[in-house]
Amino acid sequence: MTLQKIAVIGAGITGLNAACILHLAGLDVHVFEKSRGLGGRLATRRSDFGIFNHGAQFATAHHPDFIKYVKMAQQKGAAEQWVPTPHVPQQNNNTRSIPGGSLDRQNHQDSNAGWFRGTPAMNNLVAPLDCGFTINKNTRISAIRPLDNEQFELFSQEGPRSGHRIKPQSHGIFDGVIVAIPAPQCAEILMPLSPRFDGIGDVTMAPCWAVMIAFQNKAATGFDVLPDAHPDIAWIGRNPNNAPSAAPDNMFDRWTVHASPQWSYDHLEDDAETVGHLIETRLQSLFKDMNITTPPIVMRQAHRWRYARTIKPLGQSHLSSLDGRIVAAGDWCMGARIEAAFQSGESAARAIMAVCK
Ligand SMILES: Cc1cc2nc3c(=O)[nH]c(=O)nc-3n(C[C@H](O)[C@H](O)[C@H](O)COP(=O)(O)OP(=O)(O)OC[C@H]3O[C@@H](n4cnc5c(N)ncnc54)[C@H](O)[C@@H]3O)c2cc1C
Repeated sequence: MTLQKIAVIGAGITGLNAACILHLAGLDVHVFEKSRGLGGRLATRRSDFGIFNHGAQFATAHHPDFIKYVKMAQQKGAAEQWVPTPHVPQQNNNTRSIPGGSLDRQNHQDSNAGWFRGTPAMNNLVAPLDCGFTINKNTRISAIRPLDNEQFELFSQEGPRSGHRIKPQSHGIFDGVIVAIPAPQCAEILMPLSPRFDGIGDVTMAPCWAVMIAFQNKAATGFDVLPDAHPDIAWIGRNPNNAPSAAPDNMFDRWTVHASPQWSYDHLEDDAETVGHLIETRLQSLFKDMNITTPPIVMRQAHRWRYARTIKPLGQSHLSSLDGRIVAAGDWCMGARIEAAFQSGESAARAIMAVCK
């Protein structure tokens, strides 16, 4: 029997977890990722002023499988527990409990749960999942074509131009495909293939503008995280400092500010410079109201996450069609969190294995 060849589209935690499970089960796995790095929204930007985690800030772990994974990642030096100093409101002097996630503050059920993050930076949380399968970076898959014999051909649009038309470029033929990308992008690829995928169109995801700001030296804030500081600001958080002593991470005080979903919608098509300026101004005025004097700002960059947070999930761990050989997965299946993404990846891998072994 020939080895089943499986494609996984997207190298976020969903796709990488699925790919790793399939590879360890003996399948021939090929991951396609449009960017040049792994981790997706577990994102880290390196700059002359040190590193910034500008996507997810931390993971919580409730499911036994994810708890096990986080423990293993800690042992491998790819994850650490994070106990930041939260903001303490001055008026009643009560220590504010840490809410449940930078994108889920209305849900405080995780107040006492541990926070974990990748180390030395957030994107490293996926490092243990890179377990030996083939990864094709800088490859954006735009279409899947079903062939005879229960096989599928993958295409990108980045092939050579012939006249004014871009010729689709083939990336091979596979026995099964997992599509592990945000719901609206997943819908574009999968909805033309089968009405079974129509449900993806009902999923909603909110954007988030993330602004990275470096102060010349440490700002005397007295806290590391300040969630829900203002209706326009969902998260203010200090970035980790895991570098050797001479590195920029130790010289500059680096903060990530996430705009609220509504503010991000309202400013979705603004340019990064405008957004950076507006959010910096808001941050400075918030700090001034708290009598915090900030050092000079030496760096400011804004990043737009067009699909950051799942607002309305699918309600099931994955979706499959075409004899179970095409599977859609991602955080948007069950929730807005890293853990939901991890579980969806596992569920997608098991679904593919049920038909492709
Ligand atoms: C600003 C922000 C803050 C967040 N904060 C938290 C938090 O504190 N805690 C928490 O638990 N969660 C948080 N989240 C959510 C968390 O990041 C996600 O739930 C999780 O990372 C989703 O993983 P994923 O693999 O499903 O998707 P992604 O991480 O989005 O991975 C999808 C991958 O697919 C690639 N891709 C897309 N289209 C294609 C294509 N056509 N071809 C090839 N590759 C493609 C992308 O480049 C990406 O690498 C946050 C997210 C954001 C954006």
